[in-house]
Amino acid sequence: MRITAQALYNITKCAHRVYLDANGDPKDRSEVGSFVKLLWELGLQTEREYLDTLGELAVSDLSHYGIDEAWVETQRLMQEGADLIYQGCLVDGSFVGRPDLLLKRTDLSSRFGPYGYEPVDIKAGKGWEERDGKRTKFKDHYAFQILFYRLLLERIQGASLPIGRIVNVEKQLEAFPVADFEQDFQEALAEAQCLISGQNTSEPVLGSHCQLCQWHRRCERWVTEQADPTGLFFVGKVKFHLKRVGLNTIQEIAAMDVNQYLKPPKKIPRTGKDSLLRMKERARVRLAGKPEIRPGFIFPARTREVFFDIEDDPTRGVTYLFGLLIKEQGRAPKFQYFLAKRPEDEEATVRAFWEFLRTTGEEVYYVYSHKERSTLKQLMERYDLDPAVLETYKSKEYDLYTDLIVKYSDWPTYSYGIKQIAKQIGFTWRDPDPSGANSIAWYNQYLANPTDEAPLQRILAYNEDDCLAMVAVKDYFEQASG
Ligand code: SF4
Repeated sequence: MRITAQALYNITKCAHRVYLDANGDPKDRSEVGSFVKLLWELGLQTEREYLDTLGELAVSDLSHYGIDEAWVETQRLMQEGADLIYQGCLVDGSFVGRPDLLLKRTDLSSRFGPYGYEPVDIKAGKGWEERDGKRTKFKDHYAFQILFYRLLLERIQGASLPIGRIVNVEKQLEAFPVADFEQDFQEALAEAQCLISGQNTSEPVLGSHCQLCQWHRRCERWVTEQADPTGLFFVGKVKFHLKRVGLNTIQEIAAMDVNQYLKPPKKIPRTGKDSLLRMKERARVRLAGKPEIRPGFIFPARTREVFFDIEDDPTRGVTYLFGLLIKEQGRAPKFQYFLAKRPEDEEATVRAFWEFLRTTGEEVYYVYSHKERSTLKQLMERYDLDPAVLETYKSKEYDLYTDLIVKYSDWPTYSYGIKQIAKQIGFTWRDPDPSGANSIAWYNQYLANPTDEAPLQRILAYNEDDCLAMVAVKDYFEQASG
C-alpha cells in the first residue's frame, strides 16, 4: 500500500476518498470525466510552460519513467549534483512522492555533499488566498504535498529547508513557513496511513465536493441505503456531530425533539434551534419523497422575463457564453446568446452584452446563483465597463436559488443545485451528460479543433436547457401556489 502526495491532497477534501482509492471496489469507480482529463492536461501544460521559462538551466526530465526507474535515476542525479530534476521520484518504505521539481540548493548541506535538494510543485492556481489585497492563508492541500516531499527528502538526504515553495499560475515562486502546517500535516499523514491500510474506513460526506469524484455514484448509493444524514441539504460534516449524539439516520433526525439537542450533554456544536428545525423539516420531506413549497414568495410582475445563465472556463480565466431565454407576453420564448468563440473574443462579446443590458427595458432577469452577478462585476472591472449598467441589472435580478428554493421550499435531495431540483419536477436536459464542467471540456474541445463546431452546438443546447430548467422551476412554484 503506497502513501502518496495525492492522498495528502485528497484528505483535505474527503477522508473517505483516500480510503476508497486504496480499498474500494474498482467496479464502483466511474470513468474519469472529460473535465478532470482537461485539468490533468492543463496541469501538464502549466508544467511544460514553466520549464520553457528556465532558459539555459539544465533540466533532467524523468517524466517518462515509472516509479522504480525514476527512483533509481533520481538518486543517481542527486549524487551527481544535477541542477534541476523534473518529475523525479522519492521513495522511503511505503511513502512515494513525485515532486514536479527537485531544485539544487547550495545553501544546504546534505548526505550528497555541500548541497541539497528542495521540492517545488508547479500549480495551476495561487498558493496564498487573499482578502482585500492581504494574504490570509496558504492552501493546505498545496502545503501538505510539499511537506510530504520534504519529509521524504529529510530521510533521503538528511536535511531540509524551513520554508516550502510552489510555482503559482503566474509562474512566480510563492513561499510559506512549513512550521505553520507541521502539526496538521502529521495528523493528516497518520490519518491517511490508517485509511490506506484499511484500519479506518471513514464515511462519505455528500456535498458539492463530490461532483467530480469517481466514487460519486457509489457514495450516493451508500448514503441512500444507510439513510445517512448527508442525504439532507446542508448537513455535510455536521453529520459526525449528529452521530455522536445518536442522530444516525434521516429517520432519527425527522423524529428528534429539537430541544434535547440545544444543551449539554447532547448539544450539537454551532447548530442552533432554527438550523435544527430546518434539518428536521428537510428530513421529513426527504422521507415523504416530494418537495414542499411554503407560501410567501412573490415574482416580480413583468411582461418580459429573461432567464439568464453564464458559461465560463476558470482554467483559462475566460467567460465564453451569456445565454438568455426571453419570454414576452404573446410571443414564443426566444433563446438569444452572446458567444466568445475564442478567448480573445471575450472583450468584444462582453461589450456587446453590456450594450444589450443597457438598451433593454423593464424586464426581470432570473438566475440560479450569485455567479452571474459576480462574473459581471469582474468583467466590468477587467474591461472598464459602465458601472451604471451593472447597477441597473442588479436591481432587476431575481436569484431563484437563494430567494426562492432555499427560502420557500424543502426538497428530498441533498443538493439544491438546478440539476437536482429540475430533475425532481420531471425536467430533462437534451444532453445525456449535462454539467458546467462538461461545458468547459466541450469549449476546450472546440478550441483544439475549431473546424468542428459540434461542441459549440452542444454548449448552446446545454445552456438553453439550463435556462429552460429555470423556467420549469418558476412554473412549478406558480402552479404550487395556485
Ligand atoms: S463521492 Fe464525495 S463522499 Fe464519496 S469519496 Fe468522493 S468526495 Fe468523498
